[in-house]
Order: sequence, then C-alpha cells, then structure tokens
Amino acid sequence: MKILLTNDDGVRADGLAVLASRLADLGTVHVVAPDRERSCTGHAFTLHEPLRVERVAQNWYSVSGTPADCVYLGVLELCPRPDLVISGINHGYNLGADIFYSGTVAGAVEAALRGLPAIAVSMGYRAGVDFAPAAQLCHALAQATLASQLPPQTVLNVNVPGPQHASSQTGRHTFMWTRLGQRVYREHVDSRTDPRGNTYYWIGGPAEPSADPPGTDAYAIHAGIASVTPLNLDLTHGDLLLKLPTWSLAGFEAVSPPAEEPSKLDAPRAQSAMK
Ligand code: MN
Repeated sequence: MKILLTNDDGVRADGLAVLASRLADLGTVHVVAPDRERSCTGHAFTLHEPLRVERVAQNWYSVSGTPADCVYLGVLELCPRPDLVISGINHGYNLGADIFYSGTVAGAVEAALRGLPAIAVSMGYRAGVDFAPAAQLCHALAQATLASQLPPQTVLNVNVPGPQHASSQTGRHTFMWTRLGQRVYREHVDSRTDPRGNTYYWIGGPAEPSADPPGTDAYAIHAGIASVTPLNLDLTHGDLLLKLPTWSLAGFEAVSPPAEEPSKLDAPRAQSAMK
C-alpha cells in the first residue's frame, strides 16, 4: 500500500506531520509538499519555470511549487502510482466556496484528475491545536476508501471542528455526510499608501456568521461535528443544460451533438484536462 501526501501549508507544517505518522500503519507514506506556505493558491500549475525538488528525509520531498505541482510530480515521478492521495491536514477549514481557492483541495483534485482516489482534509486552526482528531478520521476514511472505491473524478472533502467549535460532540467520534454549504466572508478592499506615495491593496475580509442549512458542511462544523463532502469534478449544471436549448442567440444556430454511447460518457478526462 502506497499513500502520497501533500498540503498547502508547506512541507514543515504540523498538520502534515501528524497525518503522516497516523497513516504509517496503513502502508508506505510518501510526502511531496510545497517548500513554503501555498495556501489559497487554488489549482495553480507551474509551467513557466523549473521545479526544484529537495529530499528532506526518506520518502519526504520539498518542491518549489504548488500543491497541484506536487501531486503531479509525486504521482508521475517521485512516488509513481500511489493507491491513495491525501492533501492536508490543512491549518483551517475548507468549507463551501473555499474549495475554489484552496490549495489543499486542489492537491486532491489533481490526484482525482490523474485517476486516483483522493481525500482533502482540513481542521479548524488555532496555535497549538491537536490535529489528532482529524488524523484519526482521515485514517478511517482512508481504509473505507480503499475498501469501497470512489467513482472516478471524485474527491472527499473532509473538515474537522477545531477548538473554536467545541460542542457536546467534542471528543466523540461523530461525523456527517454533507453537501457543500456557503462560507461567508466580509467583502473588503483595504487601500493603503506605500512610503513612495503609491497606492497598494489588501483584499479579502474575515469570515462572518452565516445561516447554514442542515446537511451542509458549514452546518456540521458549526454544530461541532466533522463533515465529509463528496465532490464531483464535473461542474456541468445538468438541469440548466436541459433548459438552455430554449434560448435563442441572435445570428447563431444551435447544433446538437451526435448521440454518444453511455460507456464513453464515463471515460476519464485526464488527457483533455492536461492541455
Ligand atoms: Mn493552508
């Protein structure tokens, strides 16, 4: 059994170390992780400069790239064909639309695009937080994933409550299967002036309280319960696709695709994704 780990907090992050040691009894753990903090870099891919790799310990590599770079390089070069790829444990939640910005989730998505089962795991963060509960849930999920198999092009996105969401569930081994909810941040642009008189900006505000419908990832976390959300990498809006043919585009004629055989609809899209 070969497990590849990455993260977006950097190769020296505590969450990664705790996860690596907890999973050691499942097989050989390989770590390929960014050489520095790469949080909120999304699915950035380094195509216009070289990637440098430093072996920091046996089966541990530090890469001068993003989480998506690390998984690509890990899967194809440093740790070929792992059985499972896990990204985390991120220092902080990845709930709702966070998944579009998260380097942690992108690491798992890159693995799913390469046709591998993939899990992203995040935990509410405070200095000195104990990542053991997230590592324990990840251990159980890794076993279940290997036993039950995930459909292609899917990722499990896991969030575990941190000390800021302590509840009656804290310390119990509870979790919820969830759908993506919403994470609301204050919209904020901070405009400042540098010592030379030029304007510069800081963007993004803090998380704000939100009304979370039951069944969502944010609902579970705010109730102090771990959340596991299955993500489908096919973002096509199926319902809308059926309704759009009622639109007319001035000067254009809609052409229908030829009928496709069902088996082809499930074919992996790894190749087309790599253009
Ligand atoms: Mn991070």
